[in-house]
Amino acid sequence: MPTVEDYIVPWVRAAAPYSDKHMDFAWSHPEILRLMSNENLLSPSEAVIDAVMEMARSGNLYPGSGEELRQKLGEAAGLQADNVLLGNGSTDIINIVINTFVAPGEEVILPTPTFSMYEARVKVNGGVSVSIPISPAPDFYWDVDGMLKTANDKTKLIFVCTPNNPTGNQIAEADLRRILDLGVPTFIDEAYYELEDEPKTLAYLIQDYPHAMVNRTMSKARGLAGFRVGYLLANEDLISYLNRVRIPWNVSLVAIAASLAALDDKEDQEQKRQNIIAGRNYLTAEINKIPGLVAYPSEGNFVLFDASALNKTSTQIRDDIIKRGIFIRPMSPHRMVEGYVRVTVGTPQQNRRFIEVLSEYVSQEMDRDSA
Ligand code: PMP
Repeated sequence: MPTVEDYIVPWVRAAAPYSDKHMDFAWSHPEILRLMSNENLLSPSEAVIDAVMEMARSGNLYPGSGEELRQKLGEAAGLQADNVLLGNGSTDIINIVINTFVAPGEEVILPTPTFSMYEARVKVNGGVSVSIPISPAPDFYWDVDGMLKTANDKTKLIFVCTPNNPTGNQIAEADLRRILDLGVPTFIDEAYYELEDEPKTLAYLIQDYPHAMVNRTMSKARGLAGFRVGYLLANEDLISYLNRVRIPWNVSLVAIAASLAALDDKEDQEQKRQNIIAGRNYLTAEINKIPGLVAYPSEGNFVLFDASALNKTSTQIRDDIIKRGIFIRPMSPHRMVEGYVRVTVGTPQQNRRFIEVLSEYVSQEMDRDSA
């Protein structure tokens, strides 16, 4: 008799799940500083908490489609509510978009390294991810010619994350236009755009390209990762197709309330932005002072650095730093060369603590090597 496993579609059987064990680990070790997942380390503002508490009283009722929120998000980008798709985090949006465009066996172009969720969700859907490596350090730039050459009749979707996670740099508009000129649905991930030195959205491109989609999230600059709200800006006809795939009521009542309150709290938003900009500048400068390490400039809430001089794997470095009370992210499991790690920007005190721990660790390791 066949087992239940035999009934599972082959691509689900073959897919390696995106593991969220690191999150469970962090929740079960509250004493460890979580600088591993690009969360915003500042708590939601009082205005957000009040709005959530108030809406919790209506928690017996289903939410609507978040019309007021879509209206606000659309207006802020010079668009309408009909140009906005809401998701349970932008991870939900990524899934909806893949489900809409990619059938099993069809191809998705992924400049790599980038946010690893794209590849994980493509695989679960039976799609084939075609990885186009970005250039090595220090440029980390998209191989646009390589992407254009690779696109073929089977290519159904292209991902471009800008600023890119984990390299923190932006693609030039002219290069993005060359990619969009292919006519292939293109997911432009602006999860970190509010944190750019001078935020410059590319959302207006959806007016010129009906196949362009611009993704945003309330999880990073806005600091609402636990509420799970992301949104996509696109041509309204495209949004209506994506809405067929979206599960109704995918964003909870309290998540909508939290987002509306956060959008109104401009002062808190500016504080959060300044905290991240100052923090990443501090981290980049301080890491670069540590002999052997190289940190790269970032326009996100994280800093990527090369610690390969330690002659350890990225994962070993992560484990060593966890033992010292801080959780950072190894990058080699995400298609980066060994020795690269990423740290999230915290509060000024957390950033200082991280630099103390890292400096001490590196000098111990270097001493051991030369002993
Ligand atoms: N896009 C990028 C580039 C990210 O780095 C992340 C989270 N690390 C997300 C999307 C997903 O965020 P969320 O689902 O919380 O909106």
